[in-house]
Amino acid sequence: MTKRKRPVGNFIKFMGTAGARHVVSQQLRSSAGIWVEYAGTRLLIDPGPGTLLKVYKARPTLKPSQLDAIILTHRHVDHSCDTNVMIEAMTQGGTLRRGRVFAPRDALEEEPVIYQYVRDYVEEIKILQSGERYQVGAIQFETPVRHRHGVETYGLKLSLGSVTVSLIADTAFFPEIPSWYQAEVMILNTVRLYPTGPGEWVHLCIDDARRIIQQAQPRLGILTHFGVSLLKADPKAVASQLTEETGIKVIAASDGLVLKLDW
Ligand SMILES: [Zn+2]
Ligand SMILES: [Zn+2]
Repeated sequence: MTKRKRPVGNFIKFMGTAGARHVVSQQLRSSAGIWVEYAGTRLLIDPGPGTLLKVYKARPTLKPSQLDAIILTHRHVDHSCDTNVMIEAMTQGGTLRRGRVFAPRDALEEEPVIYQYVRDYVEEIKILQSGERYQVGAIQFETPVRHRHGVETYGLKLSLGSVTVSLIADTAFFPEIPSWYQAEVMILNTVRLYPTGPGEWVHLCIDDARRIIQQAQPRLGILTHFGVSLLKADPKAVASQLTEETGIKVIAASDGLVLKLDW
């Protein structure tokens, strides 16, 4: 008789869904990034403020010491604040040289958000570049294009077996987004209810999300990374309106939401 293997979880967990300075600094939503687990490979994307605590509070449990990689889409504090402490957690306080870190060049060079001394703890620090592909265990991902967002920023397109999942990280809208990020599941950092005003950080708004979803036709669209205006409007209501308008299922992420990938 063969022993049955413990099932391996394939899921994406939204550890946080906060997306703008006020929402992050008041913790109106958590800012703990996204945990991806596929075929035994584990990634943490954008560990913002509070990630270490949220990871330890997660149920079922998540173990930072089992992470295979930490990926930063960009250096803004809501995406990078807990990077150093998560590297320490991934490497058991630097006692085990393991894991990899992926980040844009400007997160590592002038005014780095990753300290020099923790860089020695990991197996590799890899600089993200436009149009590159990367492999971490069972997960392949690419960074199709540099975003329009103040600091060097990349979104991700993940291949999780037969499922493709894209994460459109912080950016202003540009016409190539729908084709670069076309995937079965598309996660959109949709900070704003209305378009960006003068002097504000550039981010996607609901009109942009609608346009991207209509053009890319994913199987599922997920809104996350909410600013104050979107929270006030109720992300769930906004998402169901987008579903009606586009005919494509759109949901709003909530803190702790788990998206199972076994379909
Ligand atoms: Zn952000
Ligand atoms: Zn940003």
